[in-house]
Amino acid sequence: MTKPTTTNTGTPVESDNESLTAGAQGPILLHDHYLIEKLAQFNRERVPERIVHAKGAGAYGELVVTNDVSEYTKAKLFQPGARTESLVRFSTVAGEQGSPDTWRDPRGFAVKFYTEDGNYDLVGNNTPIFFIKDPIKFPDFIRSQKRLPGNGLRDHNMQWDFWTLRPETAHQVTWLMGDRGVPKTYRHMNGYGSHTYQWINAAGERFWVKYHFKTDQGIDYLTQAEADRIAGADADYHRKDLWEAIERGEFPSWTVSVQVMPVAEAEGYRFNPFDLTKVWSHKDYPLIEVGKWTLNRNPANYFVDIEQAAFEPSNVVPGIGFSPDKMLLGRVFAYADAHRYRIGTNYAQLPPNQARAAEVNSYSKEGAMRYHYNDASVPVYAPNSFGGPHADPERAPDGGIWDFDPTIVRAGYVQHAEDGDFTQAGTLVREVLNDDQRDRLVDNIVGHVLGGVREPVLSRVFEYWKNVDSELGKRVEEGVRAGSNGNGSPTPPVQG
Ligand code: NDP
Repeated sequence: MTKPTTTNTGTPVESDNESLTAGAQGPILLHDHYLIEKLAQFNRERVPERIVHAKGAGAYGELVVTNDVSEYTKAKLFQPGARTESLVRFSTVAGEQGSPDTWRDPRGFAVKFYTEDGNYDLVGNNTPIFFIKDPIKFPDFIRSQKRLPGNGLRDHNMQWDFWTLRPETAHQVTWLMGDRGVPKTYRHMNGYGSHTYQWINAAGERFWVKYHFKTDQGIDYLTQAEADRIAGADADYHRKDLWEAIERGEFPSWTVSVQVMPVAEAEGYRFNPFDLTKVWSHKDYPLIEVGKWTLNRNPANYFVDIEQAAFEPSNVVPGIGFSPDKMLLGRVFAYADAHRYRIGTNYAQLPPNQARAAEVNSYSKEGAMRYHYNDASVPVYAPNSFGGPHADPERAPDGGIWDFDPTIVRAGYVQHAEDGDFTQAGTLVREVLNDDQRDRLVDNIVGHVLGGVREPVLSRVFEYWKNVDSELGKRVEEGVRAGSNGNGSPTPPVQG
């Protein structure tokens, strides 16, 4: 027996083919719920496409660490023998969702590692460099590669206008116009982290690193004539190739290596090591092998696994941090923000983005489409006295450029001579309020506290008011202990 078609909530439906009408020729009736549900769902099937990297393909895989790089990083995913599940999304940059895979364009190479310390995302390209070096130019650059506002057409003049006015594009444009500007398939290209990142070892020593994923299939490319022909014949050529190779059991792999620069060498290096338009010469910083990264599983559902995948350079784990690379720091903001807009504020709960970390103890809550939530006993605020999570700098990523720039800190205001937290509250109580106002203040506090404040918070309340003003604090404690709000109204007993 075939399965019955149902509504989204499981009720069997009467017809797959005819709408409910008032007579065979009559108008469609609004209470044909299944018809309305079907049309409404169809209208909402798309989420906004990515403003860049809209067209892509992806797969799941695994990183296996074959070498020992623990002298450079304590990150668990890079320790000898570690195996970490991974997701990749390859993409073109400027084209839209349906655009041909073989247009000349850099290719996105976004990798997510599901580590036990949280997700680590390496959102790179198939080039070790980029067109620009400051995120303030990013919207301008991308618009120049997309479409004219009037006729909606792509425009080479606009592209070259931007490139020639911004000479820092020269290195990447040389790549783009060369053989590697159109890879033969996603399997036949390298991936590069491109940005400079920070690695921190168990002793707290820091290194600058660049990631290289070298294809084990060998670099190969399409000529312009081949690419043009395929663009017309099979717009999804690269997506199809990746899918079919994995279905055949031909799992593509890449050898993962890093270049490592001791922090002390950065200042004197002949190229600015944080400038995204420059590489570090292999001759100066040879590749150090880390492991093998293999793609071995196709997505079960393209929309769920790949279209909803959210990669963000802000996802780092202990042992890895950012660097003063301005483009990286701009992307640390921009990617998470793009996901909130595109797939909603709870995008981290979607299947491809869910952390496999031992613990996810976030204080974020609610928002559209929320379906994971904390136990009701977990407080919704921090700090708290009731067992909620507390930030632990020892366990957090040592990220950021904080240690290198003493002006960048997490710190409260500089304290001036009279800046105590209780000073001005005490002045207000003693020097501004008159007796009547002070009495009402006490009554209001006592009434509020008797509304349900329990130990250990209650003792802190008394201490708090004694710090503001000792007399006021005494009166608050007496009022609460007497179980009266000062107006004779009954109040619950004080616990503890
Ligand atoms: P090297 O001679 O040591 O490295 C040159 C590298 O160029 C090769 O290792 C290969 O990188 C890459 N390459 C080879 N053919 C092409 C091509 N047709 N298009 C683009 N890249 C190609 O020199 P340096 O390290 O001193 O770098 C010199 C130049 O090489 C750089 O300006 C840069 O454009 C390019 N390059 C450098 C890389 C680096 O990280 N140092 C990485 C890639 C290119 P791979 O093995 O990664 O394929």
